[in-house]
Amino acid sequence: MTDKYIINWELSLACNLDCSFCSQKERRYINNKIPDQENIFKIINNLPANTHLSFLWWETLMLPNIISIFNKLEEKEITYEITTNWILLDKFLDNFEYLKNLTQINISIDWYWDFHDISRWKKWLFNKLKKVIPELINIKNITVSTVISPNLKTENIVKLHLWLNSIWIKEHKLIYMMNFSKTDVENSKILISDIKISMPWSEKIDNEMLKKDFLEKVLILKKLNTKTKIIIEPIALFKKWKISCKQLDKQLRIDENWKLSICEFITNNFDDISKINLKDAIKNNDFVELKKSIKSKFPLDICKTCCKLHNE
Ligand code: SF4
Ligand code: SF4
Repeated sequence: MTDKYIINWELSLACNLDCSFCSQKERRYINNKIPDQENIFKIINNLPANTHLSFLWWETLMLPNIISIFNKLEEKEITYEITTNWILLDKFLDNFEYLKNLTQINISIDWYWDFHDISRWKKWLFNKLKKVIPELINIKNITVSTVISPNLKTENIVKLHLWLNSIWIKEHKLIYMMNFSKTDVENSKILISDIKISMPWSEKIDNEMLKKDFLEKVLILKKLNTKTKIIIEPIALFKKWKISCKQLDKQLRIDENWKLSICEFITNNFDDISKINLKDAIKNNDFVELKKSIKSKFPLDICKTCCKLHNE
């Protein structure tokens, strides 16, 4: 762990979109409840002061009392960032200005214009995004990330990147597409018998083909020589030394049931953070042992193309 406790917190799995490619679909069908404020406040009270929270995997801004939660974090001087699908962003522009500890807003944009709206099932969405992002950029630090898949046409990613450059987005993160099969899940379960895995799998694509496609697109974008810096995630996929997992090494995760958990995909959960201090929860023997066991067999087959890979 670093000096700061970096916590990825899935407040809920509820979302106001139903994207075809959403990796959390199956879990959401089981549990899409909206959490109550009292429990959220109990969790915040159980966090150390030197915590940085990242709210992700659902639409955080959908929560009816989200501003009270942000205000509570401001009061406790806990820094935080959000990942959002931006449908509701325009309603919060005035508030964002005063939320000093909201350090970053992460937006994933995987296609440009029509292609984007088709993938998210909402015709007007990109149009709205075009209006909101330039306004937001004057108020908050924004990151934009794009998953590079073979069905993303080069022409489309070029248009997207040029648009980001035209509105002064500083960085464009290009994310390697996660690529795993049912066999990868089963092989991982064989290695660690009590592991629970929840992730949608599909027909696995040849990784060499994916890497070639990824690097070709990166090269084309780099040649555009824009002011928007290109970041590759995970760079560890191409630098083969000391590969580890950022989530296991440096971050923690609280799941939608308030419990300390391993990562987005390994869903074994442990102590309830609304009932126990985080500093005590991370000493739980079962939690410590499962992490050790994953690290000793790292990378599991499900980890091999994960965006959390990093070079130690
Ligand atoms: S916006 Fe994100 S969390 Fe919501 S359905 Fe789409 S991919 Fe899933
Ligand atoms: S690399 Fe493995 S352990 Fe780490 S977040 Fe990805 S799936 Fe989880």
